[in-house]
Amino acid sequence: MGEPTAFRCVSCGETFDPWAVEYTCPSCGPLKGTLEVLYDYRALARRLTPKTFAETQQHSLWRYEELLPVGREHAVNLRAGYTPLYACRTLAIELGLRGLWIKDDSLNPTASYKDRATAITTGAARKLGRAACSCASTGNAATSLAGFCASAGMPCFIFVPGTAPRPKLAQLKAFGAVVFAVDGTYDQAFDLCAEASTKFDWFNRSAAVNPMNVEGKKTGALELWEQLRGELPDYVVVSVGDGSVIAGLCKGFQELVEIELADRMPAVFGVQAEGAPAVAHAFTRHTQGQPIVPAEEPAQTLADSISVGHPRDVVKAVRYVADTGGGFVTVSDAEIAESGQELARRVGVFAEPAAAASYAGLLRLLDAGDVPPDARVAVFITGSGLKDPESMLHGLPAPTKIPPELEALEEHLDL
Ligand SMILES: [Zn+2]
Repeated sequence: MGEPTAFRCVSCGETFDPWAVEYTCPSCGPLKGTLEVLYDYRALARRLTPKTFAETQQHSLWRYEELLPVGREHAVNLRAGYTPLYACRTLAIELGLRGLWIKDDSLNPTASYKDRATAITTGAARKLGRAACSCASTGNAATSLAGFCASAGMPCFIFVPGTAPRPKLAQLKAFGAVVFAVDGTYDQAFDLCAEASTKFDWFNRSAAVNPMNVEGKKTGALELWEQLRGELPDYVVVSVGDGSVIAGLCKGFQELVEIELADRMPAVFGVQAEGAPAVAHAFTRHTQGQPIVPAEEPAQTLADSISVGHPRDVVKAVRYVADTGGGFVTVSDAEIAESGQELARRVGVFAEPAAAASYAGLLRLLDAGDVPPDARVAVFITGSGLKDPESMLHGLPAPTKIPPELEALEEHLDL
């Protein structure tokens, strides 16, 4: 495995011995002081070749063990990563693109990109000898943690706001997690989870505070590089809630350049819903020379997995995206719904609304000229539509009712 050389605060730059601080920088606090894991990139550049990963014969994200802070001897027995990349040639031509690829991360064990992060956090919990894990979330991160803890036989404590919708609790409860509905907001649930984790020595997987999350999330970039045989696309587009997924992808591309397996990064674009644009706004402020201050904004969108009013990984997300030369774009709920249906119809990938937002973002970027024609683009699909099938039914016609007779069927068939 890759031995981290330090954990560094993204805001003040202070470095800590690996594992000496587990969550966030004590000086900068949990919102600004997220940590990034550093490695000896020079040594890795000497040791790693384009074939290194394939030679592991691991068909999961553990094939990138050389670039991970935890060895696969600690891995939980669920396969995260190694998801398909679909080349969409017809759609690319229609959109005027030279290449379009859909990276389908709905095919992870609990059906979202979050499983990449959980694979590493649960591995780290085992490495550190923690008896239990915890997380504050109502969505894919909590479900993912519950699934991996079930496989590991490890207790899992989940904190959700009291208003969490029942359908979202089904997968969680099925995996046997202990779920507390906190009589308060998501932020209060988040804080209680952090306090309880410290007191009871649980390993806290909550978004952004645990630097292991980004280490898992960066593996999507490494896979894309490998699946395209080292020819990274010009642009990568992905939806953004807390900012951890996009931060992870950017870090993955950055590390490929550091270890000299790629000569440039793609420009990475984040997509947010118009009703929940806190990270996009922070990015705009950053481009105007203002400090990246994590701000709280209203969040209202049908894409629940990116409906985040108080993003937790905003500093990393904004800084890393700026380093790639990318940016942010916002899309309406109507565009998200339409894109979800188009992805399903044209590519055969059934994405949850938050994931379909990535594709909606690409269409916006093309319209605005931010992604030029003739570009090569990869779009990440971060969660399955099966998690929230109801929201995909908006605007779709009901099935045609017919009596059980062939003549009746023929009347309605347009052959
Ligand atoms: Zn700091």
